[in-house]
Amino acid sequence: MSDNMRENLFYEQKNGYDVIDTAERIALEEFCEGYKNYLDAARTERLAVKEAVRLAEEAGFVPYTYGMEVKPGMKLYRNNRGKSLLLAVIGKKSLAEGINIAAAHIDAPRLDLKQIPLHEDSEFAYFRTHYYGGIKKYQWLTVPLELHGVVSLKNGESVEISIGREEGDPQFCITDVLPHLAKDQLSKGAMDIIAAEKMNILLGSIPYDDEGSDRVKLAIMSMLHDSYGITEEDFLSAEIQAVPAYNTRDIGLDRSFVGGYGHDDRVCSYCELKAIIDTNEPERTAVCILADKEEIGSEGTSGMQSQAFECFVEDLCDAQGVKLRHCFANSFCLSADVCNAYDPMFAEISEKRSNAKANYGMGILKFTGRGGKGGTNDADAETVGKLRKIFDDHNVVWQMGTLGKVDQGGGGTVALFMSRRNIATIDAGVPVLSMHAPFELVSKFDTYMTYKGVKAVYDN
Ligand code: MN
Ligand code: MN
Repeated sequence: MSDNMRENLFYEQKNGYDVIDTAERIALEEFCEGYKNYLDAARTERLAVKEAVRLAEEAGFVPYTYGMEVKPGMKLYRNNRGKSLLLAVIGKKSLAEGINIAAAHIDAPRLDLKQIPLHEDSEFAYFRTHYYGGIKKYQWLTVPLELHGVVSLKNGESVEISIGREEGDPQFCITDVLPHLAKDQLSKGAMDIIAAEKMNILLGSIPYDDEGSDRVKLAIMSMLHDSYGITEEDFLSAEIQAVPAYNTRDIGLDRSFVGGYGHDDRVCSYCELKAIIDTNEPERTAVCILADKEEIGSEGTSGMQSQAFECFVEDLCDAQGVKLRHCFANSFCLSADVCNAYDPMFAEISEKRSNAKANYGMGILKFTGRGGKGGTNDADAETVGKLRKIFDDHNVVWQMGTLGKVDQGGGGTVALFMSRRNIATIDAGVPVLSMHAPFELVSKFDTYMTYKGVKAVYDN
């Protein structure tokens, strides 16, 4: 009797693999094969947009321009400057009844080249960098790197740079001190193991065959000129990023994890993208946001604080004679971003019972923030209740999570900026191990359940 009472009254979670059948196990493996291909292509936010547009167009999405007729079932997208993407499947109901949104980000921590990056020191040529997002700088030493980006020329043309991804391409790296001579370095705090100004990427060492100065720099610049037609001055108007050159791989003998660079938050971006691609004639309009600049505060025209989102939805509303503010007031948003997965090796940073765990499903965070819930959206109980119902109705395995122990640190997502628009918003996404490291891990099970979770919201 008391066992029955426990079952009825207590909240217990089960390992996800204990609650799914064989068909779902096959489905999740297949889903993650697609994700691995996407992550290998989406090395930067620009490349993520490109890959997402390719997949969306394949599925029948067309670019939306103001004035186009907007009818139920239409699949539309707007490419915001090649750096963020908005997609919509128009619902049967009027936009006045609100839309179902999932918002992920496609930027990830990385090393940006400085605007005057190229220099020579002791007959080595280097690119100077400025790190982007919250990284532990020491993790980025001795990691193979590839370079991607654009150089905008004065004549208006854009040159795309990509070195290191293709088989046979050279790659790059930042060097570190040998342990034999690291007495001084290892006595420093981890923050100071490498100074940001020493995060220089080694480019080459063979001098140009002449008698002048900076002969290695000249040799490297001459190679760049041959390949891309650029001069040193052109770096002034370039955005070039160095990102880890690791290929996405299964991790573990049982292959239960996917290892790769940039899971935060390309994993949620892929789940969303697949969910909207698989959404046909929904009741309410489904909107998928792939945002830029989340890692630096969602600023800029391609970040979630930009009006680009309002412009897109207002254009759709105009086509139906609906006021944007009425649409927003009735809308629902999953801020689809990763959370931290409980790591037994670092148990001290988490409160185990409240932390999201790998293989326990999509992680829902009622709030993020830091300290006494500072800087968070903190979804209301009604929003969480609504989501519980949707997930239960659609067999989504999910868990409530929290960002580590209280007072251990903290962070935020785009949820804050969505809720400022008067949109009911909640954080939801894939738990990640080693978040913001050059090589992060996600569980395949949780990745698939996040897809199912977003799909359930779109279908609701
Ligand atoms: Mn994130
Ligand atoms: Mn992040």
